[in-house]
Formats: sequence, structure tokens, C-alpha cells
Amino acid sequence: MSEPPSRRDHWKTGKPGLSTRCIHAGDHLDERGGIHTPLYNHSTFAFRSTQDLLDVVEGRAKGNLYTRYGLNPTIRSVEEKLASIEGGEQAWVFGSGMAAESATLLAHCKSGDHVVCIGDVYGGTYDLLATNLPNLGISTTFLLGSELGRLDDALKQNTRIVFFETPTNPSMEIFDIAAIAAAARRRGALTVVDNTFATPVNQNPLALGADLVIHSTTKYLGGHSDLTGGAVIGAAKLLEPISAWRKNLGQMMAPEVAFLLARSLRSLVVRVRAQNASAALLAERLARHPRVGKVNYPGLTGFPGHALAKSQMSGFGGMLSFVVNGDMKAAVAVVDRLKLFSIAPSLGGVESLVTQPVTTTHHGLTPEERARRGIVDGMVRLSVGLEEAEDLWADLEQALDTSR
Ligand code: PLP
Repeated sequence: MSEPPSRRDHWKTGKPGLSTRCIHAGDHLDERGGIHTPLYNHSTFAFRSTQDLLDVVEGRAKGNLYTRYGLNPTIRSVEEKLASIEGGEQAWVFGSGMAAESATLLAHCKSGDHVVCIGDVYGGTYDLLATNLPNLGISTTFLLGSELGRLDDALKQNTRIVFFETPTNPSMEIFDIAAIAAAARRRGALTVVDNTFATPVNQNPLALGADLVIHSTTKYLGGHSDLTGGAVIGAAKLLEPISAWRKNLGQMMAPEVAFLLARSLRSLVVRVRAQNASAALLAERLARHPRVGKVNYPGLTGFPGHALAKSQMSGFGGMLSFVVNGDMKAAVAVVDRLKLFSIAPSLGGVESLVTQPVTTTHHGLTPEERARRGIVDGMVRLSVGLEEAEDLWADLEQALDTSR
């Protein structure tokens, strides 16, 4: 008679939903009955015999070996959880989002290869593509969202990767993942989507045809502004070459961070859905405020990307930006009067944050380049946290009303 499934396998019966996977995937009952996969905070693992060690080193057995290689149960556990949440075959975790991006680009591009980068991407991503990779013979064509009609021309024989974020930072531009992935596939290129802003709660790029999904887990997946990490998720055959770069560049996530990330992922769905709801409320009220010129939020019916966002996202996210009427000084006056929103460049945590793209994320661009991207001096970006939405609105309203 076969053994009844352990309590830890019951969750797999049927088609478990996202919250169920967030909580149970990757967590295996250990011999001491711990409710979660424990923190194996070890750099190395011991073997009973040389033969046992060789079985792992030579791939005959799936054992633990050395944490920098990813052969650590806490690391493997959070990777299994992430793969399940994004609907991918496999996931690798990294010490930061930039580590995940750089390993992915280095593993899939060699000297002479080409990348197409669409729309506004995180400043570090832009810097990597524009400054570091050309030194290795890897070139990038940058297309603004308004230039997407030139995608087919930009895709060359040697294009290996099409990279983009959707929604973008800070203008919340929306790109059609399925259409871009189809165009890239026709030319033999991989589509890599940075899903940090949307999160797997609101958008599943792999289901829409993307090949790889990247996260800065520092943001929503970590969710508490207390960890730095990254992840790449997709088919095992595409992840395999990335593993060697992660190992040899020493980009592994620390086990303590992996444990903390798994803790955070268990509450991802409720956090993000609450953040979606608060951001929608703030966006609607900001759009009606006389001191606000424009609100960028995919959930607003008048927003240019709304219809597309509705077709490929199940929620519109916790990020938004708006333009304070007037100049840079007017926007600074609003930001400096906020009491509940902290002035900080990150996003995705339980606490609400405010930043001005011109002073942080897009500070390094020339005024002309910012203008080309529609990033005006009065633009303010909000990462909406988990405080009461009415308290957040009261804070925004007092800052707008008293700074005139
Ligand atoms: N992708 C996006 C969209 C980001 O906002 C960031 C950082 O802000 C990164 C990637 C890089 O992540 P990390 O800071 O974890 O390296």
C-alpha cells in the first residue's frame, strides 16, 4: 500500500491558486516537523563518505554541497517557491536584481551579439547595457515606447535578447508582452521581462510568451525594505547557462536572505492586492486635484495604456506617478511636506515612499533626454505601502494644499 501523502503534499492536489502556491510551494516537511523549510545558514555541507561526495559533485545524486553554487536547501526551497509563483520550470536567486540581470545577459550574449531594450528601464539596467556590456562587445539598441513601430528593424541577425519592463518607471508605460515576444521569437531572440513593478500577482509574462522573467526581489517580493536580492525564472534549459555565471561571478543570495524572502512571499498576494487598491484610490483622487496636471496609473480609464494593461494584467499595481503643476520647486515643496511618505528611491515595501525621478532614478540623464522620455521636473513617483489609504490621501492632500 502506498504511503498517504504527507500534509505538505496535500496543497498540490487540484490546481492550487496563487496564494496557496505562495505559502506552500518549496516548503517541505523536514524530519523535525518544522512548519517551514529551515534556515540552513551554512557555507558548506558534510558527507558520510568520499563516494557520497562524488555522487553529488558528478551529478548522480541531488545533494547539498556549497552555498555559492546554490546547493543549499534554503536557497533551493525559495527557488522552488518563486518558480511556482511565476509559473516557470525553474528559478535562480541572486544577491541583487542587478546580479540577476547581469548574469542573464552575460549567459545569453557573447561578443558580437546585440540586445534591444524597449522603453524606460531602471537606471542600473540602462547603465549596464549602455556602458558595461559594450566593453565586452555586446551592443544595445534603445527604443522608446513611441518608437516601438521600429522593433522589426531593430531586431538584427545577432539580436539575442529583447529586454523591457512593463509598466515602466516612472511613466507607467505599458507594452504588449505577447506581441513583442512573438516578434522577438520570429527573429530567434529571447524576450526577457523585468516584472519587478507588476509582480506575479498582477502579471505573468511567461504565460504571455516571454522566455525569462527577472525580479529585483528587493522590492515587492521582499516587500519590507529589509532585504536585497534578485531572481530569474523560466525554462530550465534557458536557466542552465545562467547558473555558471552566477557561480563564477559569486552572485549567490545569502541563505538568511533566502529565508527572509520565503517568509515575505507567503504574504505576497494580500500585500500586493491591498497596495493595488490603495494606489487606485490615490490615483483617482490625485487626478481630480487642481494642483495635479497628470497622473500616470494604468488603472485610470483615461490612461493611454489602460486597455492593454487590462488585457494583460490582473491588477494595476502599487506604483504611480503624477505631475505637480508648476516647476521643480513646486514639486519639491509637495514632497518635502509629506509626513507619511518617506523620501527614498526604492519601492514595493509596506511603507509608502516618494521620490522625484529628476533627483533619483533619472538624475543621470541630460535634461534633453529626460524631456524625450516625458520625465518633467514636476514629476513625483509614489510607491504605495500598506498604511490606511485614507491616511495616505490625507497626507498627500495636506502637502498639495499647504505648498501652494
Ligand atoms: N529592476 C527594477 C525595475 C528596479 O527598480 C531595480 C532597482 O531599483 C532593479 C531592477 C535592480 O534591483 P536591485 O537594486 O535589487 O539590484
